[in-house]
Amino acid sequence: MDLTLKTILLQYKLESTDDNTFIQQVDNLGTADGTAVYQCILELLTSIDIPADKAEQHWKNAIFHRQQLIKSLGRDVDFTTALCDYFQTATDFLIHPRLVESTLYENVVNESIHDKLTGLFNRPYFDEAYSLQVSLAKRYQDDLTILFLDIDNFKDINDTYGHLAGDEALKRIADSINRQKRDSDIAARFGGEEFVLLMPRTDNVSAFICAERLREEIEKLEFNYNHQSFKLTVSGGIASYPFNSENPELLLEMADNAVYLAKGAGKNRISHYKEEKRRYLRVKINQPILIKELDFHNSQTFTGISKDICVGGLLFENDEPLPLGALIKVKVPVTDGAPVLFIGTVVRVETFGNNRYEIGMTTSFKEMDKIVNTEIGSMLRRKNVS
Ligand code: GH3
Ligand code: MG
Ligand code: MG
Repeated sequence: MDLTLKTILLQYKLESTDDNTFIQQVDNLGTADGTAVYQCILELLTSIDIPADKAEQHWKNAIFHRQQLIKSLGRDVDFTTALCDYFQTATDFLIHPRLVESTLYENVVNESIHDKLTGLFNRPYFDEAYSLQVSLAKRYQDDLTILFLDIDNFKDINDTYGHLAGDEALKRIADSINRQKRDSDIAARFGGEEFVLLMPRTDNVSAFICAERLREEIEKLEFNYNHQSFKLTVSGGIASYPFNSENPELLLEMADNAVYLAKGAGKNRISHYKEEKRRYLRVKINQPILIKELDFHNSQTFTGISKDICVGGLLFENDEPLPLGALIKVKVPVTDGAPVLFIGTVVRVETFGNNRYEIGMTTSFKEMDKIVNTEIGSMLRRKNVS
């Protein structure tokens, strides 16, 4: 068989497409001689028509360029890549780059949008995706929901088992998020031990079902590190457009606020965003106070600082958390006159670092009556005794 370069090239091209230009170029290659050979081969490889008297020099330059690339990159570069790079960077023949080593390019893109530790999207990517989804939801009047997740007591995990154990746990939780989310949801690591799940075309009810499933899965995970095992829980907040707000741009902040509701209600739960409706006028009052737990046998007394007072309750700071639902008595001294006594139930406990807790109690007139009656009773009994 008469196997020449020309027959091989023609065979290849005829089998793939019917391209007359290519056939013509191969034909030229067969008949060319002298420096025209370089002109023909360059035209075949790059589709650039270079005058015959310049072609040989460009060919030699391209070979040299390839050697330089191999040296500077420290790996092999194939000739067509080098040729293309040469025409782009060293000559004006190729103005717009077309040929890119796609795996390397994809790696760069991937690294710039993903969080290294967990593999989820990173914060900059999330911000972009969020503003895109906000405008789509507004334009098409679609539901849009954000689930914000924060790992409970994560600092304790780092303190007890070390940061590497914490990192492993972050990865496993990210895997759970990835497994539970829909393909169209965007999961990102928002910061430290906080994650967000952006759920397009999802209302608050479906989001809650998904969030609960995820919360339960995480609660069941067993983390093993250096022969020690531990468990973790997450608290989540949900906010939806248009259910919670006419303005989807507020969703992120609302979902973040809802996390605080979940934390205050005892953690390991998902809360919906709720607008705080203040029924009563609040008065700011920063006073040292005395707090006493009433419903335990060994009731303790704490000293805290009151923050504000309204008819329905009292908000104060304490350096210890109190159990939700505990019945407490709070004594607030007043400059001139007898201290004011509040009796009620702890309904909210929020931590804000440095072992400080913000505690909300609602006052109960029934309980206040009961205590006042017992106190009057014991006073009378004491009088009888004396
Ligand atoms: P809460 O239940 O109120 O959320 O308590 P918490 O301890 O989770 O909250 P806090 O915000 O006080 O602590 C978050 C901790 O997360 C503090 C920080 O050391 C840890 N953290 C943040 N990023 C990373 C990380 O990349 N790796 C590890 N191992 N820990 C991290
Ligand atoms: Mg946090
Ligand atoms: Mg946390």
